[in-house]
Amino acid sequence: MKKMSIKTDLLIIGAGTAGLPAAIEASAAGSSVVLAEQTDRIGGTLHVSAAQMSGAGSRLQRQRGIDDTPSAHFDDVMRISRGTAQAGLVAKATERGAGTIDWLMDHGFDMAPECPAILYFHEAYGLPRTYWGVDGGRSVLSVLKTLFDRERENGRIDLRLGAEAVELLCGEAGVGGARLVDRATAQEFDVRASATVIATGGYGGNASRFADWHDGLPLYSAALATTSGGGIALGLSVGGRLDHGQHHLPTFAGIVTRVGEPWIDWDLLPLLTPQARPPWEIYVGRDGGRFVQEDIDSVDARERALSALPGQTFFAVFDDRIWRQAPALLPGWPDGQLAAAWTDHGAFFAASTLDGLADAAGIDGGGLDRTVALYNEAVAGGKADPLDRRHLPLPISEPPFRAIMMHGTVLKTAAGLVVDDGLRVLDGDSQPILGLYAAGEAIGGGALSGNAFVGGMSVTPALGFGRWLGQTLGRDLAANNTKVR
Ligand SMILES: Cc1cc2nc3c(=O)[nH]c(=O)nc-3n(C[C@H](O)[C@H](O)[C@H](O)COP(=O)(O)OP(=O)(O)OC[C@H]3O[C@@H](n4cnc5c(N)ncnc54)[C@H](O)[C@@H]3O)c2cc1C
Repeated sequence: MKKMSIKTDLLIIGAGTAGLPAAIEASAAGSSVVLAEQTDRIGGTLHVSAAQMSGAGSRLQRQRGIDDTPSAHFDDVMRISRGTAQAGLVAKATERGAGTIDWLMDHGFDMAPECPAILYFHEAYGLPRTYWGVDGGRSVLSVLKTLFDRERENGRIDLRLGAEAVELLCGEAGVGGARLVDRATAQEFDVRASATVIATGGYGGNASRFADWHDGLPLYSAALATTSGGGIALGLSVGGRLDHGQHHLPTFAGIVTRVGEPWIDWDLLPLLTPQARPPWEIYVGRDGGRFVQEDIDSVDARERALSALPGQTFFAVFDDRIWRQAPALLPGWPDGQLAAAWTDHGAFFAASTLDGLADAAGIDGGGLDRTVALYNEAVAGGKADPLDRRHLPLPISEPPFRAIMMHGTVLKTAAGLVVDDGLRVLDGDSQPILGLYAAGEAIGGGALSGNAFVGGMSVTPALGFGRWLGQTLGRDLAANNTKVR
């Protein structure tokens, strides 16, 4: 059977956070667009993301009397990332941040009333410039879907759901589209395009790719299982270069839904932010030793200490009185599920002695005994806490003793395709691969956050860069008058 072939101005691979705005803007600029999505729905990671965004100089900030500028935002990103983020891209992202927020609001975005705010889940900005929707990423998706459906009425967007890009088509003029597989029928077809955008997200759903690109590190992830990194691999297959993986930093921290599997439910994260809940527990590694001052203000310091632990795994250790009296450590957990966890969840341990707890959890018993003794002395006021912890509410002394196993968690992945400031994918000699562009997590979370986790610097640039690519490529391709054939 002859293979079907479609011609278009612009092929966008991935109908998620970056791909949708790219398609909306390219169509609005007059270009024809094929938008290929491997799953059966649009939206990508917006279905699960908190989608906290950052932008400086927004209308909302001005209304609240907050004097902020893109250059102050740029300086903050470079401060938090210790200068390791890609400066040209950070400048482009921070210049477009407020415009992205205003654009969402212009189109009915359901902004949470407390925005803009300073948040402490990631290293804090110096000013309130973080925004989020009442329904997280789904609030962003709701705006994009409305605009996308409206734009589709102009007949220039050909949405292909269940269509996975499996190969980039290359010729003398560079990349000229991709081969797609219709997942329902297993039929292959080619999309020939004047320009191709990789907007396929990261690889936080793919444990083997994660291990390959991070020296064998085990994956613990809140990303969608479909976040495979396949689009990044396509870029590499035509000469693209992978970078920023060295900047991986785990988010502090999550509990797997089932021990032995990598998945972490974002809605069930423990509350480990000292600004929101000062810790009542101690955190120990498998050697029984504490590895960080649990109430240190800087989440970056906690994440860095965690990243040095083997397997990025630790235990929150406490006793029964703390469990009964402290504010909820697991506020998202339904009561029944939490009660059952102590008997049927492999990450929850309880025992009548500290040694028994250490045995059950696989922690060094002698190490845990010494650590708890020193901590209890500090709580009693006899000696300073060995890690200078300030919040020392109760000793760990009343059985049953308890521990919950937690892991450094992937929300976004660090490595990605190297691009220049025009979002052109670069080869090993830093030359652009003609016709090939990338946006979103496919360019590597480390490009915009460097070796830190900078709040809002994934969703906001994915939206802003997606829009920018759609506007600029859409305008240029429409001017060349290429039509769908
Ligand atoms: C739980 C969680 C919370 C987060 N919270 C925040 C936050 O508060 N703030 C923030 O800035 N970031 C946050 N992030 C990260 C952020 O949401 C993502 O980095 C961002 O949404 C990724 O956008 P994207 O367009 O690159 O990819 P996606 O939105 O994932 O879209 C990629 C799309 O491409 C499709 N695709 C992949 N490969 C192919 C292929 N070969 N062919 C066709 N289609 C393909 C996928 O199915 C998907 O639909 C969070 C992430 C998670 C998981």
